[in-house]
Amino acid sequence: MTYDYDLLVIGAGSGGLAASKRAASYGAKVAIAENDLVGGTCVIRGCIPKKLMVYASKFSHLFEDAVGYGWSKGENRLNWQHLITAVDKEVHRLNQLHIGLLEKAGVELIQSRATILDPHTVEVGGRKVTADKILIAVGGEAVKPNLPGMEYALTSREMFLLKEQPKHIVVVGSGYIAVEFSGIMHGLGSQVTLMLRGETMLRGFDDDIRSSIQDGMSKSGIKIIGNTLIKNLERVAEGLKLTFSEQGKETNSTITADAVLVAIGRAPNLGKLGLENTGVEIVSCGDDTLPALHGYTVNCAIGVDDESRTSVPNIFAVGDCTNRINLTPVAIGEGRAFADTEFGNNPRKFSHENVASAIFSQPEAATVGMSEAEARQKLGDAVQIYRSRFRPLFHSLTDGSDKVMMKLVVDKNTDRVLGAHMVGEYAAEIIQGVAIAVNMGATKKDFDATVGIHPSAAEEFVTMR
Ligand code: NDP
Repeated sequence: MTYDYDLLVIGAGSGGLAASKRAASYGAKVAIAENDLVGGTCVIRGCIPKKLMVYASKFSHLFEDAVGYGWSKGENRLNWQHLITAVDKEVHRLNQLHIGLLEKAGVELIQSRATILDPHTVEVGGRKVTADKILIAVGGEAVKPNLPGMEYALTSREMFLLKEQPKHIVVVGSGYIAVEFSGIMHGLGSQVTLMLRGETMLRGFDDDIRSSIQDGMSKSGIKIIGNTLIKNLERVAEGLKLTFSEQGKETNSTITADAVLVAIGRAPNLGKLGLENTGVEIVSCGDDTLPALHGYTVNCAIGVDDESRTSVPNIFAVGDCTNRINLTPVAIGEGRAFADTEFGNNPRKFSHENVASAIFSQPEAATVGMSEAEARQKLGDAVQIYRSRFRPLFHSLTDGSDKVMMKLVVDKNTDRVLGAHMVGEYAAEIIQGVAIAVNMGATKKDFDATVGIHPSAAEEFVTMR
């Protein structure tokens, strides 16, 4: 049987782009379908525009800090429209760049939504095409709770397109997105109220990371209200009124703001994909509190094995739609491993062990390996913790109260470093290097035998006692 393509990729985000170019480099005939800009969540409405807005938001803190170093305080005002336009321009430049890279790699871009008709046939761009293998890389989408008035709430997608800067924004949620956008909007000059469902943000991260970020954000002036349950949202003359209950209070409370951002999780973007025509199995994502998206129960993702193969042998899936570790470098790694295995005669599996990640909150945090809680659950008392908290040198001349927190989780039996966690400036840059050592199985003795760079915050990782 001959097909139009050796590989048809659905979704030109991080995973799909990486897989399609790698497969084409082996001589495969590849097409990629995308009905939006090319680049996916990370490039178009995630990591990249987010990080640019993080940079923008940091200037306000630097202007304050500069005074301690002898600079006089000037009048600094943000031009919101300038920022949003500049970020959008960069996103469009990257879209073009990725289109060019596909062309260079010999991958055919079909700018249209794709619907799978059967395991080898896809309807795309008004025609039916056939492919030997199909890779689903459709990513995820933000979800909103099923509550009255939620149509007025923003998700992270709209945050990059706001025409005006809200004076007061309420952020609901406690994951990466809620925490990062709270810091961004606060730094850009908005009043920010962050509403957590539980007591502490960032469930799943090491407890010292969670408490250090929460503490740092509170001290910087972000109002954090814990143990809340939102009830409804109404448009009123003054803006948007959010009604919520608070643990320990008998009556509901309300808060009024110009904008409400809901960041309570993302779900695989499986609607209108035609999965029902394939027999591809959907698996639970383990969180049944999320509402339905496009008719699919959103706590469900595409089930895959460790080679990213679905229950249908010629259909594969990578990235957020499989809900393994929802990070761009992971989607890229899964996509390339798939292409190497299926088209490059180099069978290999992507390892989901020791994946480092960062939270671009303010203060910033980064982490690799096991949290203290995970290590204790696995090893009981055979866990040694090294922790350091200090005021960074930079702030010795400023009024800044930011503290750095660094932590190593060590296996007492083997001396192996199981996890490294940091909250503080440049945490992402620092942990990336530490992640190499952790991945290589370095021991605490190896860390201690490394000479520190002085004066730096990073040296603390090799001098902790
Ligand atoms: P997350 O899934 O990370 O966190 C959402 C949190 O919101 C939950 O953990 C939960 O915390 C809380 N929540 C859930 N339901 C409700 C509700 N009804 N009301 C109030 N709070 C609720 O979601 P995000 O949207 O922050 O991020 C989505 C994805 O994007 C993540 O998978 C992440 O990997 C990725 N991402 C990565 C970034 C990075 O690497 N820097 C940056 C941004 C996103 P609790 O149960 O404690 O209440």
